[in-house]
Amino acid sequence: MREAEHIWMDGELVPWAEARVHVLTHALHYGTAVLEGTRAFDTPAGPAVFRLDEHLRRLERSARIIGMPLPYTLDELRAATLATVAANGQSSCYIRHLAHRGYGEMGVAARACPTVVSIASWEWGALLDSGVRLMTSSWQRNDHRVVPTAAKATGPYLNSVMAKAEALQAGYDEAVLLNAAGNVSECTGANVFVVRDGVLATPPPHAGALEGITQDTVGRLAADLGLTVSRQDLLRTDLYTADEVFVCGTAAGIVHVSAVDHCELGGPGPVTGKLADAYEAAVHGRDDRYRHWLTPVGG
Ligand code: PMP
Repeated sequence: MREAEHIWMDGELVPWAEARVHVLTHALHYGTAVLEGTRAFDTPAGPAVFRLDEHLRRLERSARIIGMPLPYTLDELRAATLATVAANGQSSCYIRHLAHRGYGEMGVAARACPTVVSIASWEWGALLDSGVRLMTSSWQRNDHRVVPTAAKATGPYLNSVMAKAEALQAGYDEAVLLNAAGNVSECTGANVFVVRDGVLATPPPHAGALEGITQDTVGRLAADLGLTVSRQDLLRTDLYTADEVFVCGTAAGIVHVSAVDHCELGGPGPVTGKLADAYEAAVHGRDDRYRHWLTPVGG
C-alpha cells in the first residue's frame, strides 16, 4: 500500500495523516460501519472507476440494512470519489469507502452516534497471486440469521480475519468458508467459481456469500462468451472435482486456484484464462461493450 496525499472525510479533502477518529468511536467498539472496495484503472481515455455506481448502491443498501443513515446522496458520493482520485493524481488505485458510526455516546445503541463518511484511495497491487492455494476453513461462514450477510459491514469481517489467519498459518494463501449447511460460501475477500464440463457455478447469496460485483461482472462476461453460469449450492467436494476453480473480487481480480486442501488442481484452465482476459479488457476500457461500466475520473 502506497500512501496518497489526501483522504476525503465528511465533505473535505484532508491530508492523509490527518484523517483521524476518536478512540471512543462507536464503530471501533461494535463494528458499526459499512464499506466498499472499488478500483480505478488506467484506460486509453485516462483513469476511470470500474462500476462505481454499483459499488455506491451496495454501500447504500449495506447502510440501510444496519439502520445507519447515510448523509450523502449517490451523486455526492460519486463526485467525492472522483475528486479524491483526481486530487491524489492516481492513474490506477484501490478506493475504500467507509461509512461508520462515529463518536457520540458509548453503549450498543448507535442512534446518538453520527455517521462519518470517508473515501481513501491508494495504489495497490493484486490481493492474491495467480495459482492461489485454498484451505477449507475450520471457521464457519457468518450465518444470515446471526449477522446480516447481505450488508458489507465491518463487524462481520472478524469471521474473514480469523479464517485468513488460520489459512496463512497453515501455509495456504486464502481460506474458503463453508456455511452452516456445509455448503461452500466464499473466500475471505472474494467469491468463488467452479468450472465443470465448461459450465460455471458459484454459490448464491443465501449461502452467506457477498453479492460480489466482480461475480456479477464474471456472469456477464461469461454470457457474452457463450458460457452458462449457474448460482447453486456447492459442496466442498465440488471444489476438489472441478476442472477449474477461480476466485474473484475487486481487490483480487480473477485469480486461478491451483489447490484446495490436499487436492492439486493445476491450471490455469482455459475458461479462467478467457474470463481473465475479458475482464482485463473491460476494466482497462479496451472493449466497447463494457465502456458503460467505466466512470472517467476527469469527467
Ligand atoms: N466476498 C467478500 C467477503 C469480500 O470481501 C469481497 C470483496 N469486496 C468479495 C466477496 C468480492 O466482492 P466484489 O467483487 O464486489 O469486490
